Amino acid sequence: MACDVLVVGSANADLVVPAERRPGPGETVLGGDTVVSPGGKGANTAVAAARLGAEVALLGAVGEDSYGDLLLDSLRDAGVRTDLVRRVARPTGIAYITVTPDGENSILVSPGANTALEPSVVDSALDGAKVVVASMEIPLATVERTVAVAAEQGVCSLLNLSPVAAVSPATLAALDVLLVNEHEAAWLLGDGVPPERLLDLGPSAAVVTLGARGALVITGDGTTEVAAPKVTPVDTTGAGDGFTGALAAAIAEGKHLETAARRAAQVAAISVTRPGAQPSYPTAAEVAGS
Ligand code: ADP
Repeated sequence: MACDVLVVGSANADLVVPAERRPGPGETVLGGDTVVSPGGKGANTAVAAARLGAEVALLGAVGEDSYGDLLLDSLRDAGVRTDLVRRVARPTGIAYITVTPDGENSILVSPGANTALEPSVVDSALDGAKVVVASMEIPLATVERTVAVAAEQGVCSLLNLSPVAAVSPATLAALDVLLVNEHEAAWLLGDGVPPERLLDLGPSAAVVTLGARGALVITGDGTTEVAAPKVTPVDTTGAGDGFTGALAAAIAEGKHLETAARRAAQVAAISVTRPGAQPSYPTAAEVAGS
């Protein structure tokens, strides 16, 4: 079954606990009530793209537990195809998130079932997809295989290299679009190196997100700044994943990369005005009316 956007990535339950301060070593701190919500970079990206009307499938893995049910329900509610989400005999991935009054997060991720997403699952999955998005929090070898198979099959590939990791030069060379935030770009290039140098690593194009300042689109033709719409942020959780999903959906529609990035910035700006990650992503109608 063909889809517009295939996302190869993680699905995690986010367990968010508000606390006055984060515990130090050997210390116990009492926090507020836990809020459980569907998350994981892959699932967030898939939901963001599906809300915009793209046909989206997630290739991922969850456990046979209630968090796995929660994640599958959330994906299905958003219209994401889940037949490529395997249920495995590992606990569903969990992100333990402590939020302090200054708005800072500390996040401990237990990848669990996401670790079971081995490279061979990619081989037969890309069939008919227009755009393949890989994100991290799954085995690096699976990310690399995804990009390699996409290149072999002539499918447009987008890698959201977050959290940043040392991917192979061959992967970067086979990639169509590398998507990173400014910290990840600095990790790849070194501080103070112009972002245009990302193309020297091998991708055909790069997009660097700059938080409230928007994004840079870097291609062989030059660099374009994409401004972020001015909004009052409420919760920036999942902004980068929302940007990624929207970018992929627009590329699958045939939009030029710069136009796709402008749409992604609109989507991400709306998402930061709403709480949560997946619940904050707008529909196409909401973007048009914004
Ligand atoms: P990440 O969440 O991966 O660290 P960024 O912080 O760069 O990535 O945010 C991703 C995108 O979300 C930005 O490029 C921008 O379009 C949008 N965004 C983030 N914060 C804001 C904000 N305060 N106002 C408007 N847009 C924002």
